[in-house]
Amino acid sequence: MLAVVGIGASGIIQAHIRQQRYLSYQREARHAYNRGLRGIKPDKVTTEEVEWESFPCFYLCMNCGYLGDKNQSESTCPGCGLQKWSDLRNIGIAEQIREMENRERQLVPAKVKKQSGLRSSLLSILVGGVVAWLSYSAGLSLEYMIVYGAAAFIVTFILSWFINNYLLTMSYFSKRRRFPSRWRLPVPLPAKNALPSRTLAGPVRAQGELLTSPISGRECVGYEVSVLFDVAGDKRPPMWVLEEERTVPFQIGGEIIEADRVTLELPPTMVGDEENLEQEKKIGLFLRQRGLFVSEGFYKVFEAIIEPDKQYQVSLFENPPGAAATIFRG
Ligand SMILES: [Zn+2]
Repeated sequence: MLAVVGIGASGIIQAHIRQQRYLSYQREARHAYNRGLRGIKPDKVTTEEVEWESFPCFYLCMNCGYLGDKNQSESTCPGCGLQKWSDLRNIGIAEQIREMENRERQLVPAKVKKQSGLRSSLLSILVGGVVAWLSYSAGLSLEYMIVYGAAAFIVTFILSWFINNYLLTMSYFSKRRRFPSRWRLPVPLPAKNALPSRTLAGPVRAQGELLTSPISGRECVGYEVSVLFDVAGDKRPPMWVLEEERTVPFQIGGEIIEADRVTLELPPTMVGDEENLEQEKKIGLFLRQRGLFVSEGFYKVFEAIIEPDKQYQVSLFENPPGAAATIFRG
């Protein structure tokens, strides 16, 4: 089920991940990404009707897609500053979000439709003209010439409109950088193009217990999970639907970095194996806790981890004040 169709070679994916990482997450989350979840009214679900999952789930910020935990649901969203949480453990709400996102994937921007119409018209005029000219050259009457020319125009227009519409929509969305629909990263992130004020280097020493990476189950000081999603038949190229990072406090270069105050700039590897049912189940639960459904399409899951006691470098930033640090291989 988790096999991926239509997703390109791993090199392209890696390049894409790197590109994604350089986005200024916070800026994008605040200004570029508007979920527009207008159809969803979580308040309308009464307690009698509510069905809950048996396991804990995240709270989704309906404005920017930040995944908050229970404590955070009492206050404003760290990503956008609003307080619009939906408890994803509520099955009714999770289903509504799923349906809305499903509809959203079929939407075609008005300017793409217009461009598609224009291209199709020009092509149809050309083809219609050629057919009319051929009928005239073949010695057919004016009447036949008009009928054949018009028929060719209509057929070309209909066919090319669908093809253009599909191709233009795909190209529109692959060029447009889009923030993952769910994310959990330390904020504020460094400003775009900000230079580090200092860099620390050395082995990473965890302060306290290590974490276990969610899918591969490796012991680590921190992890990042990125999820790429694709579905056959929609009008979108594969899209990033999740970017999530967690770290425990650790020491590097004689300084302590607090928990969840660093973002990972590390090469991700694909995890999950169709043959391994245990791992597949793990992925299914992991996704559901974040309001994503395995049955909805094809998911590719990537993990990057900070290995304990290995050499790394940490860049510290002061723009904006309190910005999260970044960690990369030293
Ligand atoms: Zn938010």
